[in-house]
Amino acid sequence: MDTRFFVTWMEEITTAVHAGRDRLTRLDAAIGDADHGANLDRGFTAVAEALAARPPGTPGAVLVLAGTTLIRKVGGASGPLYGTAFREMGRALGEAPDVPVAALASALEAGLAGVRRLGGAEDGDKTMVDALAPAIRALARCAGEGGEPEEAFAAAAAAAEEGAKATVPLVARKGRASYLGPRSAGHEDPGAASTVLIVGALGTAAARRRPRTG
Ligand SMILES: [Mg+2]
Repeated sequence: MDTRFFVTWMEEITTAVHAGRDRLTRLDAAIGDADHGANLDRGFTAVAEALAARPPGTPGAVLVLAGTTLIRKVGGASGPLYGTAFREMGRALGEAPDVPVAALASALEAGLAGVRRLGGAEDGDKTMVDALAPAIRALARCAGEGGEPEEAFAAAAAAAEEGAKATVPLVARKGRASYLGPRSAGHEDPGAASTVLIVGALGTAAARRRPRTG
């Protein structure tokens, strides 16, 4: 995947988050402070604007600019967490002009490590980690089997979705939802839900980049 792919990924995230804004808000209203949809919509709109204004020259630079913009534009916990994830991913990619699926999986792993460091979340704490970690495992597995990016992205999206659904019965142990204690059970975690959109956008970006036939 080249620089153009990563810009397209960010654009597809922006579109998906905008379309999913109300759902993210509803989920955050149930167990948080109802700002997740608006925060991420504002943040990724700013990311798309920043990328259009100053087109970066490498995939890593795209991700670092996206992360820096999210940290600057998004309040609450999600801006710093997603911002750190994208920045760490970008740093992991370095100056590479082209990124195979295995390298993307490794970069996502670095992003996840940054999220864990900042937020302190473990698997099963009812956070974005519960969608991101299984998505990365699926991506790495597909890369190891030498599959096409499209297959790897589809597997990652399915794993993220499954992970997000599995947060429903959990009691939150991190973030604002943890203040509710047992009352946080019965709702999907909004951070896991937005991670589904971010991972899912890899597939729509790949589909958009595929040359048209016929
Ligand atoms: Mg919130």
